[in-house]
Amino acid sequence: MSERFLIRGASVEGGAIRDIRVEGTTIVEVGAGLDAAGARVIDADGLIALPGLVDLHTHLREPGYEASETILTGTRAAAAGGFTAVFAMPNTSPVADTAGVVEQELALGLAAGYATVQPIGAVTVGQQGERLAELGAMARSRANVRVFSDDGFCVWDPLIMRRALEYVKSFGGVVAQHAQDPRLTEGAQMNEGSVSAELGLAGWPAVAEESIIARDVLLAEHVGSRLHVCHLSTAGSVDIIRWAKARGINVTAEVTPHHLLLTDELVRGYDARYKVNPPLRREEDVLAVRAGLADGTIDIVATDHAPHPAEAKSCEWQAAANGMVGLESAVHIVQRVMVDEGLLSWADVARVMSRTPARIGGLATHGTPISAGAPAEITLYDPSGSRVFGTADLHGRSHNSPYLGTSLPGRVVTTMHDGYLTLDDGVLVDAETVAAHAARVATHRVGQSGAAPGARV
Ligand SMILES: [Zn+2]
Repeated sequence: MSERFLIRGASVEGGAIRDIRVEGTTIVEVGAGLDAAGARVIDADGLIALPGLVDLHTHLREPGYEASETILTGTRAAAAGGFTAVFAMPNTSPVADTAGVVEQELALGLAAGYATVQPIGAVTVGQQGERLAELGAMARSRANVRVFSDDGFCVWDPLIMRRALEYVKSFGGVVAQHAQDPRLTEGAQMNEGSVSAELGLAGWPAVAEESIIARDVLLAEHVGSRLHVCHLSTAGSVDIIRWAKARGINVTAEVTPHHLLLTDELVRGYDARYKVNPPLRREEDVLAVRAGLADGTIDIVATDHAPHPAEAKSCEWQAAANGMVGLESAVHIVQRVMVDEGLLSWADVARVMSRTPARIGGLATHGTPISAGAPAEITLYDPSGSRVFGTADLHGRSHNSPYLGTSLPGRVVTTMHDGYLTLDDGVLVDAETVAAHAARVATHRVGQSGAAPGARV
């Protein structure tokens, strides 16, 4: 038997107060004063109901780097952060460049049950940048891959990039580019600017990102295909995306929470938690990406959740790995820098953290407005109050968060995925219970339609 829920008195996307009735995997009714008969009642007084958050840029590290993260631990972190779907980057070992690897990731995500795990396929074999991977085979696989990226590396060769854009066009896919000119960033340790000059660290100049984005939007226009720009980080990049969109080019862009908040001034302390790629930029860049997200030039927020074990971060700056974990802190950072500053409404947050990432990634089961008939993917969020973010708030295997010890607003109260709870009143539901729910839903789905789990409309 599937559980029935009545979410009582939630502010839907920050607007009207409504009850939400869930049966099976579907929202069956949204209205006032709904009948709770036979349902478990969740009191949502003072809470905002958002469509389950969707992260287009997550590193789950499995297969191959399970000491940093696994699909199970990474999706537990996702559920704790209010996410119901994550797109898994392909820089695993082996690299997710074949149907076999992406199907393995899909199966592990379905078995864990904490969130939809949608694999991203590599653009080139082994992310080596030399030969196109089997994009068509990954697209036709059970994993239904629609997003392709060599993230961690740039698809630098313009001919390979052109061919990838041409290829994905045939099945409505998208190439998600990690925009970094490799020659201009050889040995780079931080943003190139006055701070890097003072510290004597090799710089990663803004032009190394902007020149690749400029080239790629023109290639996307030439080919008539769709481009997504990962973790855009500079004021100049915002200008280029704004220009490309005005010209009618089919491009979308993401920004990370850390690029919305943190600056390269933090590198002065040589705390490797602040080492990330692309690097933390100047205050002017932070203000420009906030403005770009507010005016719609930047389409989405994506975490770039990048777990690393302690030894990869507790070493000298030059030797430390790039990246930060971000799933558990993302919505709180967005509240602090965008909502509390009046730059985005909660309806906008639903758009940039759920609706649009689901649309870009072609994930029809997510990002739907909370309404009768929609999939039961729901996040309940309490925007009041604040707390000091600590290791107890991190549920993945790695603790490389830049926000430990920082006061962050809000609290993710409840996460509902596929009609069952993964986070219940701030507490992660245990792995056995979640896996049992996931198995029940999968069996029911196959029995009903014969469709493969994870299949898309
Ligand atoms: Zn990247």
